[in-house]
Amino acid sequence: MKSLGNIRRSFAPWNDPSAKPYISFENVTKRFGDFTAVNNLSLVIFEREFFALLGASGCGKSTLLRMLAGFEEPTSGRILLDGQDLRGIPPYKRPVNMMFQSYALFPHMTVESNIAFGLKQEGMPKADIDKRVAEMLKLVKLEPFAKRKPHQLSGGQRQRVALARSVAKRPKVLLLDEPLGALDKKLREETQFELMDLQQSLGLTFVVVTHDQEEAMTMADRIAILDKGQVMQVATPAEVYEAPASRFVAGFVGNVNLFEGKVATREGATARIEDGKGTSILADNAGEAAVGSAVTFAIRPEKIKVSSREPAGTPNALAGEIYDIAYLGDMTVYHVKLDAGPVVRASTVNSARATDDPLSWNDRAWISFLPDAGVVLTR
Ligand code: ATP
Repeated sequence: MKSLGNIRRSFAPWNDPSAKPYISFENVTKRFGDFTAVNNLSLVIFEREFFALLGASGCGKSTLLRMLAGFEEPTSGRILLDGQDLRGIPPYKRPVNMMFQSYALFPHMTVESNIAFGLKQEGMPKADIDKRVAEMLKLVKLEPFAKRKPHQLSGGQRQRVALARSVAKRPKVLLLDEPLGALDKKLREETQFELMDLQQSLGLTFVVVTHDQEEAMTMADRIAILDKGQVMQVATPAEVYEAPASRFVAGFVGNVNLFEGKVATREGATARIEDGKGTSILADNAGEAAVGSAVTFAIRPEKIKVSSREPAGTPNALAGEIYDIAYLGDMTVYHVKLDAGPVVRASTVNSARATDDPLSWNDRAWISFLPDAGVVLTR
């Protein structure tokens, strides 16, 4: 497999002020009766981007996708594709194709007929269809299965047929609604990489809807995190994880410890945050948070060190005891109940087989972290 590293590393049109958005949602609202599913949402997606819409059930992800595909029209606002307002353009005239979670394969048709279906409907000459189908079968590595029917395939193979069928007409944009939802965990992970390869080799723009944050983090160039029909943050997976814009995003993506407190003192960008109950934290990158204001210090479990002795020379060392331990094979997660009250989650990668500092239930323990290991959130 060819590494996508160099292509993906240099791909960042969102940082280029002269780059033209390919898809734009401009103040889009969608109401069903008096229920607002999408609320004055604006968002841009760039050509060849692998873009993920991530959010809990009911947040409006599928509605956004359906409006882009043309199955729904916005109540207000507009959606542009390559500069063209899509309002009133029927689904089949949009350079967009949608792959549904159910795949919707025709059960009585062979794999190749399933892939050929849309091309036949378009009236493509038979020789061209045969050529395109062969190309698609090769792309999704299903050549030996061309004559089989869907029920003679595994879940992963069916997923690939659906994918081949949805890209056979060479849409410019492929919309995928929970594309891997029907696959088990291991197959899901393999297929995520296949999807990324496919997207790169076809040079398409992918917009994928998922409620699985790991999936979005793995595949996407950028992720939009949605809540109640609004965008909470749009950023790269690393930014969403390392620099969440709000408590909601920090809590939604990955595990996080949240300390609520007030800024007690500030020196430059460094703030001392106190909760008034005995927990005091020194944090860098305090942004605009003023002295006296309420903030949340968010820190990921893997940024916290747990030790059986009080660590020396660190500005943030908090004492407590081991409350719970989860050994997960590749890592161990400790829950440490601090003397001051909060329970903190800390994880350690098990890179060595035996640990030289074994910790057990109810042991005294210290957690420590650097002032720049977390983020200070003001909303
Ligand atoms: P899920 O992950 O469960 O698919 P989602 O984020 O994709 O959720 P949407 O399908 O976009 O959510 O739905 C957003 C909200 O709009 C939901 O509360 C849903 O009940 C409502 N909704 C969607 N379609 C309609 C409709 N045709 N009529 C009325 N309400 C609708």
